[in-house]
Amino acid sequence: MSAYRELAAAGLISGHVGRGTVVVDPAQHRESRAPAGGVPWPQLFAPLATALYDPALEDAMIAAARPDVISFATGQPAPECYPIATVRQLLDEALHREGARLLQYCPSEGYPPLREAIASWSQQAGIRCTAENVLVVSGSQQGLYLVARALVEPGDLVAVESPTYAGALQIFRAVGARLLPIPVDEFGMRVSLLERALEHRRPKLIYTLPTFQNPSGATLALDRRLHLLDLAARAGIPVVEDDPYRELWYDAPPPPPLAALDQAGTVISLTTVSKILFPGFRIGWIIAPWPVIRQLALVKQLVDLDTNPLMQWAIWAFLERRLLPPHLEELRRVHRDRRDLLLASLAAEANGALHCRVPAGGLYLWCELADGIRARDLVPEAARQGVAIVPGESFFVDPAQGRSFVRLNFTYPAPAALVEGAKRLGRALSALREA
Ligand code: PMP
Repeated sequence: MSAYRELAAAGLISGHVGRGTVVVDPAQHRESRAPAGGVPWPQLFAPLATALYDPALEDAMIAAARPDVISFATGQPAPECYPIATVRQLLDEALHREGARLLQYCPSEGYPPLREAIASWSQQAGIRCTAENVLVVSGSQQGLYLVARALVEPGDLVAVESPTYAGALQIFRAVGARLLPIPVDEFGMRVSLLERALEHRRPKLIYTLPTFQNPSGATLALDRRLHLLDLAARAGIPVVEDDPYRELWYDAPPPPPLAALDQAGTVISLTTVSKILFPGFRIGWIIAPWPVIRQLALVKQLVDLDTNPLMQWAIWAFLERRLLPPHLEELRRVHRDRRDLLLASLAAEANGALHCRVPAGGLYLWCELADGIRARDLVPEAARQGVAIVPGESFFVDPAQGRSFVRLNFTYPAPAALVEGAKRLGRALSALREA
């Protein structure tokens, strides 16, 4: 895999879902090759940087960007719910009242009133914390990177769920971690298998998405949450809880976050506004014991000094003025309807070729392909029919384990697009069955 990634990063081979890997035609490649005497760029890239290339994911994203394509490939809330008028008023007020201050640098840990507001919001979820335990970050993607930079050295073992968030796999690979996959079932990570693995392996950290997991939609059951925390506390291993979907429940509220159940200061918890408001502000936060926050803030100073203060002010106002609870109610209603609509449309159109778990929350359907259909064949066929989906391979440490899975987002397309997208996917599945 690493040889493959190095060749791909050097532009010498190119991989396409469904078409396999080809050696790039040197005539086409001439533009990007160094002229005689120039800088040999591909040879200069740090080996770890080449771990960033995921051809399957790249193909899905290229398809999703086409204007004629309906995208089931993204991970965003329903855009029709974005509270744009409120945001406009808040930004206007912020600039009017505090423009000069909010257009300066701010403390790396975050805008102090926002840290306070996040602490009270988190206390309502049962998390014992104060503003000192909060680090505001430029999206939880940055949060994960800071955690990985601060704790993981090349060669360290990191326990991850299998499947898990593709972006986290990329980060852990990029800092040189070795990955220890722990299978997930409908009740989340199989903690008893983690326990067995810990008998002879010692990961540097355990990364988990306990609530409405991306991509499987599974939620870690309460008894497993307690078991996981007990194991981690006894072994002295940090648990990184990536929890962007907790508020997006459609049937019943999920169990408390790990950070609320934690008695031993084991948990580093990440949250983001990307999935409950919109991703464009790039605001998220980490809650952790104070020494961890301090260390992560030092790493953040290397990366971007601080998080955009104007956007932090707007999120502070959302929390402080209690604008979030009614917005969440609306999102839950709209998302629940979209989930049910896509499930019904797929049941009508996919002819039994797709078995989707019904997620109790979050943004995704995790679907298994029947009849030996492979994701890497379906992704390009679906793109030809005008619908973008993400292949299961991207979510596994060993990509082969994901070859008969795809992930479909059900919240971003409007209802008519969900129905039409399901039809297109149905046509793609039929084409593969006939082939
Ligand atoms: N963690 C998980 C599990 C996610 O699904 C995502 C977004 N897809 C992120 C982190 C990154 O979110 P943000 O936009 O806050 O960087």
